Amino acid sequence: MTGDGEEKRRSISSTLLAVNRLLKAEYQTPNLGNKADPLDELIFICLTQRTNEAGFTRAYEALRRRFPAWERMARARESTIAKAIESGGLTGIKSKRIKRILGAVHEEVGEYSLTHLGDLPDDEVLTFLTKRLGSGTKTAYCVMMYSLGRDVFPIDANCLRILQRMQLLPSGIRNNQAHVLLRGLVPTGIAFDLHVNMVVHGRAVCGRAPKCGECVLAGLCPHPQRAAHTD
Ligand code: SF4
Repeated sequence: MTGDGEEKRRSISSTLLAVNRLLKAEYQTPNLGNKADPLDELIFICLTQRTNEAGFTRAYEALRRRFPAWERMARARESTIAKAIESGGLTGIKSKRIKRILGAVHEEVGEYSLTHLGDLPDDEVLTFLTKRLGSGTKTAYCVMMYSLGRDVFPIDANCLRILQRMQLLPSGIRNNQAHVLLRGLVPTGIAFDLHVNMVVHGRAVCGRAPKCGECVLAGLCPHPQRAAHTD
């Protein structure tokens, strides 16, 4: 790593610390409905794909009402699962994925449970979720952070948008590349607050049409819209 590269990494880390302080003061890290059990969280994250909060919350509740036990869900037809989650959209894709996940969990673990992951170190949990269950990095990190209490930083669409507008990540990259680029740069102990409050900020303020005039990060953000609203 060159001196310039090291300097840039330090600058990103210290900006993330400042962002975390501002967002935490603004939103106080609310509960976003994520799940304490790792398999519950894995299925919940599957339902959030390209769906708004109200839609995926309703879909998860309806799914668990219809199938309180994973065994019954695993035996159900895709069309029955799709019907249960119809309030969340993309029902064909999601029902197929849920069936595939439950099948893979049972094949790998011998039961419908991921609680054994709590005994494994971070790198083994990540490998299990991504390589053996086929999850993406963001989904794996959500399970690790929300359900297993690990200090990892999932980059969802809200986090990616904000980090790119703030030029902490290059524009045009996808979220798997973003996880690689930010590895080791999020200061220890802030990942949970930073992620949750960034999700809230992305939904409320820094959405497709950013409300830069209302943004607590405006003083740190070089995004052109910010200049238009605050100069
Ligand atoms: S200033 Fe605008 S672009 Fe920058 S983080 Fe805030 S809302 Fe997003």
